[in-house]
Amino acid sequence: MDYLATQIQELKEQGLYNTIRTIDSPMGARIVIDGKELINFCANNYLGLADHPRLKAAAKRAIDEYGIGPGAVRTIAGTMRLHDQLEARLAAFKGAEAVITLQSGFTANLATIPALVGRGDAIFSDQLNHASIIDGCRLSRAEIIAYEHNNPQDLRQKLADAQGKYTRYLVVTDGVFSMDGDIAPLPELVQVAKAFGAMLMVDDAHGEGVLGRGGRGIVDHFGLHGQVDIEVGTMSKAFGVIGGIVAGSQVLIDWLKQRGRPFLFSSAMTVPDVAACLEAVDILEESQDLVKRLWDNANFMKHELKTMGFDIGNSSTPIIPLMLGDAHLARQFSQQLMENGVFAMAIGYPTVPKGLARIRVMNTAAHQHDDLEQALDAFLAVGKALGVIQ
Ligand SMILES: *Cc1c(COP(=O)(O)O)cnc(C)c1O
Repeated sequence: MDYLATQIQELKEQGLYNTIRTIDSPMGARIVIDGKELINFCANNYLGLADHPRLKAAAKRAIDEYGIGPGAVRTIAGTMRLHDQLEARLAAFKGAEAVITLQSGFTANLATIPALVGRGDAIFSDQLNHASIIDGCRLSRAEIIAYEHNNPQDLRQKLADAQGKYTRYLVVTDGVFSMDGDIAPLPELVQVAKAFGAMLMVDDAHGEGVLGRGGRGIVDHFGLHGQVDIEVGTMSKAFGVIGGIVAGSQVLIDWLKQRGRPFLFSSAMTVPDVAACLEAVDILEESQDLVKRLWDNANFMKHELKTMGFDIGNSSTPIIPLMLGDAHLARQFSQQLMENGVFAMAIGYPTVPKGLARIRVMNTAAHQHDDLEQALDAFLAVGKALGVIQ
């Protein structure tokens, strides 16, 4: 297996080798790495729920009542009262007929796409879709036709060209594209999909808890209830826990419970996870404060970074891509930020295209104003030291 060592060496030479940091604290606005406290801009913990006292208490209570593990796949014996409750609560929260939960957003895509389409069908997939969508598409064995990123005209053209050649048609897109923070043009995609009788699926992993009224997601953001056939989501980001969601019609959810392979052949979310997610739904339904705080923090950071002269791309969400281009420069930038007390990871190929390396600044409701001011000082100092800004 020497080829693996050679490939790893190549990654290191190209500045693309990912060094994984170990954290010795909860996932909050400040985290501890190698004994040092750093202001954290790497987590998808948008609402600060990963370390929320109410989620922790709910998980502990549920452990006392139900234990830890479900002990089986859900179709055999692993569905507890809590799993059913969470699905009912999520369906009400999202304004959908029904919801199925899975172990993660990744497995939600693997469960859904191959259950809907197969050989002889066609999937129209945004060229920048998340890896789990791509893998779900491949597993389905349907024909995969990539359309230009966020381009409904290109989708329309490709659907027109494919008319009559396949049995079923599925259009699939990320809701929020996590590396740039841009949002899919869902109203236009709905129109195009409808015009060609195609099913429409959106993966709203980064919109859950972020977009829409009180964080109800991208379908709510655009007021498209009932018009998007399949809405996938995750509870590992804004919800601060772990777990996948598929929301849609009752018949869709019934079918996924019969034919979603990660549902049938892999055990369910654990008791503390489910209880913590239920508490997260409570918190989101009670108040919009956390969502508002997230956006206030993100808008402040965007404004300040732009004023300093950084290129912050075209994000319309709390994700800020600080565009640097060269992968080595991005890594150096991240390293120097760390020396200045700020944790913000460099992102390079293959996560983003070659030549478009960046620092990704993930804002959260957990950051205090002091955290942001201190971090901005570090961005300014490192940006000047590396000649990125004047
Ligand atoms: C993060 C992400 C996932 C994976 O979610 P997990 O719950 O962490 O497995 C799936 N799809 C998209 C678009 C994501 O951003």
